[in-house]
Amino acid sequence: QAKEQGKNGFQFFTRDMNETIDRKSKLATGLRKGLEHGEFTIHYQPQISLQNEQIIGVEALLRWNHPEWGSISPAEFIPIAEETGSITKIGEFVLEEACRQNKYWQDLGLAPFRVAVNISARQFVQKDLTEVVSAILDKTGLDAQYLELELTETIIQNADTAIATMEELAALGVHLSIDDFGTGYSSLSYLKLFPIDSLKIDQHFTRNIKSDSKDAALVKTIIRMAHDLGLNVIAEGVETLEQLDFLKTEQCNQAQGYYFNRPLPAQEIEDIYYTIEPA
Ligand code: C2E
Ligand code: MG
Ligand code: MG
Ligand code: MG
Repeated sequence: QAKEQGKNGFQFFTRDMNETIDRKSKLATGLRKGLEHGEFTIHYQPQISLQNEQIIGVEALLRWNHPEWGSISPAEFIPIAEETGSITKIGEFVLEEACRQNKYWQDLGLAPFRVAVNISARQFVQKDLTEVVSAILDKTGLDAQYLELELTETIIQNADTAIATMEELAALGVHLSIDDFGTGYSSLSYLKLFPIDSLKIDQHFTRNIKSDSKDAALVKTIIRMAHDLGLNVIAEGVETLEQLDFLKTEQCNQAQGYYFNRPLPAQEIEDIYYTIEPA
């Protein structure tokens, strides 16, 4: 039955618990083999400065294209990779590939920008994360300042340990940001303890800034607070000119979203880069 389901495409909204479990275990197995079989690629989404509209960074977003099942959303497979532990190897692949790619862009002569890599909770608590990151920087030759690690509030299982890990990472010279800011339940007082550089405003807030005055108030407040704490702010999920104008008025530093670009294969980053800033 599972086989039949695979051939007919995915059933994202199944009512049958057994099918859900079948699909999860099928994906869990697929994830383990996917790395060896080269089924993962990375797309890059530009992060744009709102001061001069230049690319200041790109976020690395993992893509999984299975030969039989087609493309599977990270929103579905990342949580499974987390649960089963395969995120550790997959995460290392993303880090290494993103650093290698960014170094390649620099060697091509593009003005250097940062590559931001998502780090999941399970990766964050692995005891040798700093060593892994440091070894990858050495191996790829990328300068630490051109790597950013995106952490979410879910990594904070123990505040003291989390701060210690962040400090080790920050000491390497990499940038740290808090992703999906505003959707977790962590205390704001952490913000003054974390050695971070930026907050990423979650796309759910960005989406409603023109239609919901309360979301608009929250976004204004986050920007103001971040600046008062000496942090940079980037808005995720910017899709319209109206949203962009609002963010510019509120002095948000950077934006990322479909209004500018979707996540793109590496080659297309080179193409748009030359369009935005001719060499
Ligand atoms: P995220 O890190 O918050 O990434 C932003 C997500 O929003 C991406 O979805 C991106 O494609 C999407 N997005 C960007 N601009 C817009 C927009 O204007 N409108 C809308 N509606 N969406 C936009 P994606 O690529 O499907 O990734 C989903 C999540 O999966 C990511 O959320 C991240 O939490 C996770 N993820 C992706 N790649 C990795 C990875 O390499 N490692 C880990 N640990 N997690 C990853
Ligand atoms: Mg992210
Ligand atoms: Mg996010
Ligand atoms: Mg997210």
